Amino acid sequence: MYKDKGYFDGLFSGLKSIGIGLKTTMREFFTKKITEQYPENRKELEMFDRFRGSLTMPHNENNQHKCVACGLCQMACPNDSINVISEMKEVDGKKKKVLVTYEYNLGSCMFCMLCVNACPHGAITFDQSFENAVFDRSKLIKVLNQPGSSVIERPKPAPRSAVAKPTAPVAEKPAPAAERPAPQVAEEAKPATPAAEKPLVQPAVDEKPSTPVVEKPMEKPSPADKGINAEESKSADAPSE
Ligand code: SF4
Ligand code: SF4
Repeated sequence: MYKDKGYFDGLFSGLKSIGIGLKTTMREFFTKKITEQYPENRKELEMFDRFRGSLTMPHNENNQHKCVACGLCQMACPNDSINVISEMKEVDGKKKKVLVTYEYNLGSCMFCMLCVNACPHGAITFDQSFENAVFDRSKLIKVLNQPGSSVIERPKPAPRSAVAKPTAPVAEKPAPAAERPAPQVAEEAKPATPAAEKPLVQPAVDEKPSTPVVEKPMEKPSPADKGINAEESKSADAPSE
């Protein structure tokens, strides 16, 4: 519920809020200004270090660049803003890929810098130009390699025979295995259980070795038995009276 203040309460409350506002105004009045007076200060204007203006290919004083036309930046670009055109040329008896045209479309670039990070030779980088407005979009497609430029030739590696092989001194050979101190950790880890203390595995009583069943040969009938049997057979064959 709104409670009406008195006359003087409202007056002092308003004066207090005016004082707080004036305090902020006066503080900002005396702090250092960071507003750039562009375009009046165009000549001395400096962009901050992380600003990405436009992709460039630095050349040295001999009109040479570092691009070997490998195409990794083109493959890394998510917007197809880079087009590397190369050709095969014979250099020193060897066929070599040579950059012909490096096209960069500033109009479709989103300044992600993936191309710069993908380049293994550091051949491209971003400058700090920002006045890139044009009336024709086709003017945003730029050729980064300068006319008549070439790639910087890297020094050839020395032949292998010239490289001195490191000689290992005999005295510094590692000691034979017998002279080396046994590692303590290994000894501690092994349990000191002699062979005699090892629990013998008693054979189970029930597990007697099974004796093979030897089949007894058939007993041959003795001559006496033969006689009895003959008589019995004769009596059996005789006709009963
Ligand atoms: S900054 Fe990104 S979008 Fe622009 S050319 Fe490089 S990879 Fe493509
Ligand atoms: S700029 Fe770098 S990554 Fe792109 S083609 Fe040239 S060497 Fe390869």
